[in-house]
Amino acid sequence: MNKFEILKHYFGHDTFRDGQENIIDNISNGNDALCIMPTGGGKSICYQIPALMSDGIAIVISPLISLMKDQVTSLNQNGIRAAYINSTLTSAQQSRAIYNAMRGEYKLIYVAPERLEVPAFLNLCNSIKISLIAVDEAHCVSQWGHDFRPSYLKIADFISKLDNRPVISAFTATATDAVKRDILNLLGLKNPYQITTGFDRKNLFFAVKRPQRKQKELLAIVSEHKNQSGIIYCATRKNVEKVSDFLNDNGYRSLIYHAGLNSEIRNRNQEDFINDRCNLIVATNAFGMGIDKPDVRFVVHYNMPKNLENYYQEAGRAGRDGENSDCILLYSPADVHTQRFFIENNDENDELTDEQREKIKKNDYYKLNKMVGYCTSTTCLRNYILNYFGEYHTNDCNNCSACLKEYKLTDVTVDSQKILSCIIKTRQRYGASTIIDVLAGSKKESIINAGLDEQSTYGIMSKTKKAAISELITKLIDEEYIHQTEGKYPILEVTQKSYPILKGQKNLTMRLAVKEDLHREIQQAEIDRSLFDKLKERRKYLADKASVPPYVIFSDASLRDMCAKLPTNENDFLRISGVGIKKQEKYAKEFIPIIKEYKNSKS
Ligand code: ADP
Ligand code: MG
Ligand code: ZN
Repeated sequence: MNKFEILKHYFGHDTFRDGQENIIDNISNGNDALCIMPTGGGKSICYQIPALMSDGIAIVISPLISLMKDQVTSLNQNGIRAAYINSTLTSAQQSRAIYNAMRGEYKLIYVAPERLEVPAFLNLCNSIKISLIAVDEAHCVSQWGHDFRPSYLKIADFISKLDNRPVISAFTATATDAVKRDILNLLGLKNPYQITTGFDRKNLFFAVKRPQRKQKELLAIVSEHKNQSGIIYCATRKNVEKVSDFLNDNGYRSLIYHAGLNSEIRNRNQEDFINDRCNLIVATNAFGMGIDKPDVRFVVHYNMPKNLENYYQEAGRAGRDGENSDCILLYSPADVHTQRFFIENNDENDELTDEQREKIKKNDYYKLNKMVGYCTSTTCLRNYILNYFGEYHTNDCNNCSACLKEYKLTDVTVDSQKILSCIIKTRQRYGASTIIDVLAGSKKESIINAGLDEQSTYGIMSKTKKAAISELITKLIDEEYIHQTEGKYPILEVTQKSYPILKGQKNLTMRLAVKEDLHREIQQAEIDRSLFDKLKERRKYLADKASVPPYVIFSDASLRDMCAKLPTNENDFLRISGVGIKKQEKYAKEFIPIIKEYKNSKS
């Protein structure tokens, strides 16, 4: 079979994605390769298809047991013989896998890098024909990456001990130069084909929100995403527990994940999330490595992360299957204080000299500022991220919250003067909500009781919407005309920078949102939710029966395609995206009756 036939026959896809074809051609022609593609870009088939096209067994090196298991289960589901050898197998199971490998029973074997040091494994590799070696998550070889795994350094050693050097290919989503150099050198790639596909993830909608109350906003988001998988990232363990309790109290069952939990609970919660036994997981950034769940429909950052590298990686766990998904960041200036605290109190590297430490700190602050810049950007968020990673786009995406808002350059001198003088007149003792109440002329008991209704600034902005006053205050904080203190009850204070404004020596103009319109530009074909849910139910049933995660049976993309094409015979079923021969054989009979019933009910 050629690569196109394999793509349809085994994987059920009709066309290759950006970069895939060239990579497959190069590897099949015997070239080493270094492939940088974003999360969800479809790296796996870039080595799986060459493996299927050549004689012998491909060795895939993968950092995590959970990843290997997932990949092997998916391959088996597609009718491809593959296995993993790792410490979760008993020694009898290991021997059996090795025996099967000797007999050429597999096309691919997945191993962790530690396995490469086991003499029996090296012996095995020297007695079979190895078609290729693929190093997945190759950034793990670099100390500059975020998931350094010392055992990845042994890979080159292993390769040098092989009687015949096979083609080596490396895959990662990390594109920084330092990491790239390390991969090339430390894996000993020989004159490799190199490719970096675009980093844009078109199916992701990016939004930054700045709610007065994050919990309320979060409820709105999860209720909008009912029955969909979502990850909610928080900056601290304490927040993880608080937010999860809050969701549970409000009828949205959620699990938690952070490094303070014992590994048993952590694994159980992760498994329950992966297997769709629970839709929501609230987590610190400890969660995610090893999560290839393709149908995460939304990722919320309850707190701003420390830099855009982390943000894009975490948010990028949404929509790996290419379906529309949301990445929403709930920003508040207090998040900046949290991150500053982390930078100031970073004692991870106690072997560093003071000088090195200062350098790292400076870099961390630089990155933090860029992150804050994202949160406060009034221009295309997607472009902001891509620019940060060195990709320059000039067109706005129309699929992010900044693009969907309409901004206008507005003279805010007078309104700013009103706000600033209200803060001064009330003696810089109150937080934003009180200041807004005073300016708006609120009749609240707390305002009256404190005598704030007698202030000269009381009610001077009664014709302005509270949300607009709030937005302007936020902007004044961002641009440091106002300082907001830290702590539980942050207080607003006027800074030096404000005096020229107050004295009328300087005008102030800002880009302000004139209307907020959060409907998305990129619309998906309308499908019938009721049918989709029925198919999903069937998928869950079959998954439980086979003890595999539901997405191993079919991705959301496949179910959606069924809803759109409504196949009622085996031939049409094969035309569904993600349906190869094996899945047609196995599952057509499971899903077609549901579709038929649906069609009948409509006619
Ligand atoms: P990566 O390892 O780059 O993060 P994966 O290899 O896990 O990405 O693929 C992500 C998703 O994309 C999977 O659900 C996979 O089935 C799907 N996919 C990969 N290639 C294609 C393709 N050519 N057409 C449609 N879907 C694809
Ligand atoms: Mg991958
Ligand atoms: Zn945009």
